[in-house]
Amino acid sequence: MTRIRLENVTKVYGSVVAVDRATLEIEDGEFFTIIGPSGCGKTTTLRMIAGFEVPEEGRIFFDDRDVTFLKPYLRNTAMVFQNYALWPHMTVYDNIAYGLRLRKVPEEEIKRRVRRVLELVDLVGLENRYPLQLSGGQQQRVALARALVVEPSVLLLDEPLSNLDAKLRLEMREELRSLQRRLGITTVYVTHDQLEALSMSDRIAVMNRGRILQVGTPEDLYMRPRNLFVAGFLGRSNLVKVRVKGRRNSYLEVYSPTMQESLLAVGEVEAGSAIAVIRPESFEEAREAAGENILEARVEYSMFLGDKRELRVRVGEERLVVYLPPDSRVEAGDRIRLRVKPERIMVLPATGDIEEI
Ligand code: ATP
Repeated sequence: MTRIRLENVTKVYGSVVAVDRATLEIEDGEFFTIIGPSGCGKTTTLRMIAGFEVPEEGRIFFDDRDVTFLKPYLRNTAMVFQNYALWPHMTVYDNIAYGLRLRKVPEEEIKRRVRRVLELVDLVGLENRYPLQLSGGQQQRVALARALVVEPSVLLLDEPLSNLDAKLRLEMREELRSLQRRLGITTVYVTHDQLEALSMSDRIAVMNRGRILQVGTPEDLYMRPRNLFVAGFLGRSNLVKVRVKGRRNSYLEVYSPTMQESLLAVGEVEAGSAIAVIRPESFEEAREAAGENILEARVEYSMFLGDKRELRVRVGEERLVVYLPPDSRVEAGDRIRLRVKPERIMVLPATGDIEEI
């Protein structure tokens, strides 16, 4: 097992700062995900950990060993690329066995280990095919098998599930996660899929424009985003402009001019303009006529989505997305009362990358 540490790592391509002073610590055996929009520097970060890129500034450590300039093949990492990178002239079996043969593992053991990973990625029966005779998803699974078979101490995955169909992707998420737990491999996973990140990771780093904005557990990032970019990127959010009036008990009191409502909320902003972040699932239907954090809403749109009902409602001039249980009998045109607990309204400074969300 290996702990990975990045200290102030910067990578520049011409005039593009791909990674900007990234500092990270990834624990032994952790499943760590880097998430962010296209071009934010995720892959570059991964490639520096693998040793395919050397940073202009900063240091990378595996445990206490400085590996910043160490060649990739001396790092005991295995990487699964987004574009598979399989050898087209080798069968599935030989593609997977390749790394073991390089390491001079006896053929009998190779057979056993290849068979095990083939089962793991659901490719039994295809070992004699060539990559071009496989679907994209199957090729991706060969790439995963090839990385896992060498039992690396660091596994680096660059959007490895993006070419699988939705059902298989879900299965592979669980497979990959339970396998990673079993083997205890320190894993760095790059994705732009928030559900993948939330469901698989021990911790997540959210990146934007080369910078790491927040690192935390999935719950941390979802429930306590530190800025608007993180709030908007992970999960859906209603972002409501508010004015902070002051504190009441342990809560913040804010006023929304568009809703013409005062709300109790949580946050660190002391005064002035701010943004209240309210997740769609934080609302519930209120029975009582009036009270703290109860909003009069007019339903503009109501969609049954199987596991929930999604509403678009209007509160004063503000439009909100609201999730209610699927059996809620709410239709377009209805007037309803919604309640949201103060703990579920996060007030964040009205600065940062809100335009990009
Ligand atoms: P995606 O999700 O689209 O793969 P990403 O977050 O992985 O994006 P990177 O591939 O790390 O982003 O790229 C970060 C920035 O660096 C981008 O602006 C990209 O265009 C630039 N970049 C990456 N590799 C190179 C390169 N070899 N030469 C020049 N610019 C590069």
